[in-house]
Amino acid sequence: MISPPDKRQALVIGAGLSGSAVAHSLAMRGWSVTVLDQASGVGAGASGLPAGLAAPHVSPDDNVLSRITRAGVQATLQRAQALLHSGTDWALTGVLEHNLAGKRRLPANASDHHSAPATAAQLAAAGLPPDSPALWHAQAGWIRPRQLVAAQLQTPGVQVQWGQQVQGIEQRGEHWAVTDAKGQTLGEGPLLVVASAFDSLALLRPLPNFAVPLNPLRGQVSFGHLTDLSEDQRQLLPPFPVNGHGSFISGVPTPEGLPGWFIGATFERNCEQAPVRAEDHTANQVRLATLLPALGETMAGQFDPERVQGWAGLRCTLPNRLPAVGPIDPERLPGLWLSAGMGARGITLAVLCGELLAAWLSQEPLPLPDVLAKHLAAERFAS
Ligand SMILES: Cc1cc2nc3c(=O)[nH]c(=O)nc-3n(C[C@H](O)[C@H](O)[C@H](O)COP(=O)(O)OP(=O)(O)OC[C@H]3O[C@@H](n4cnc5c(N)ncnc54)[C@H](O)[C@@H]3O)c2cc1C
Repeated sequence: MISPPDKRQALVIGAGLSGSAVAHSLAMRGWSVTVLDQASGVGAGASGLPAGLAAPHVSPDDNVLSRITRAGVQATLQRAQALLHSGTDWALTGVLEHNLAGKRRLPANASDHHSAPATAAQLAAAGLPPDSPALWHAQAGWIRPRQLVAAQLQTPGVQVQWGQQVQGIEQRGEHWAVTDAKGQTLGEGPLLVVASAFDSLALLRPLPNFAVPLNPLRGQVSFGHLTDLSEDQRQLLPPFPVNGHGSFISGVPTPEGLPGWFIGATFERNCEQAPVRAEDHTANQVRLATLLPALGETMAGQFDPERVQGWAGLRCTLPNRLPAVGPIDPERLPGLWLSAGMGARGITLAVLCGELLAAWLSQEPLPLPDVLAKHLAAERFAS
């Protein structure tokens, strides 16, 4: 049973996609929200990704993950529409999914989907042979996560305190307090939302009866500027993102602001650091050659270590690829909530998770059916 605190004041740890989405959703409902982050500004964690995709997962049986990602994409695109500039921060381009492994099949009754087999014209635009197995997701596009984070944090009612590394959380009467390495209190309030991705684990580990198996999964994106490509190479660029074996996006500003191309991402388990590695650029070159063979062949030279740029980060994963959101243990730990474990889909899922958390707290209708919300509930990890 969720009983919301009397005072609508929240403390959020972590200012990435997850924490900023929670802060925005609560502030839009009249809450006063303080977000604490150990970094000096936006994009220190995985949400510093220069460009990524909001795209649905599809499966022949329209499984839970597929239905949740569909709701997530819709929530993200609506948020982007409301807060971001189309063309520079995000774009609803549609995404072509090159179905290399042949695993991605649409359910027989896909009437509420915006996904369909790709047409010959879409395949041709991507430079793929007409018999390539591929899907077209019309409700999908690219987003620059930093832009979304920054916009969500600018919501009136949200205050961000940078350079605040939380080392401990403790219950003080009806409040939760967060402390630094010296044990000094950094903030206190009736609602605490932990949204610090993999680092949430260290904060939550001391709690009794709650074990959330968060794991780090390092990934690297390789990118460059369109101005460094020849006219022939530019002619081969697909006019929309292509995913499948990784994803390729072009025409999106790089962190320097020039239009760029991006291919990623690598997957490396059991790594808690995120350095950029030369061997990952090689892996991304192979990824591009598999995803879009003609383009991959002509762009091979762009992966030269002198030319290519890279960005690496840590995804925070959970075993079933679904995040953990909401109260951790409403009976024993009232006021302690979580939004973490976005995995490789934070762009698609974080906004939905923020809305779900705020709807639970405000006792409003949920942004997705109860039966799906149950699969996201953080409480599933309470014993
Ligand atoms: C290479 C790569 C490619 C990706 N591509 C896509 C994609 O195409 N589509 C998609 O949907 N998703 C993609 N993702 C996943 C997406 O980037 C993440 O799921 C999302 O950014 C996670 O957001 P978050 O807020 O949970 O975590 P983070 O962005 O990591 O934010 C956590 C924040 O908590 C702060 N913090 C940590 N510990 C503390 C502490 N003790 N005290 C205070 N602050 C703390 C950090 O500084 C950080 O700002 C990709 C990820 C990677 C790495």
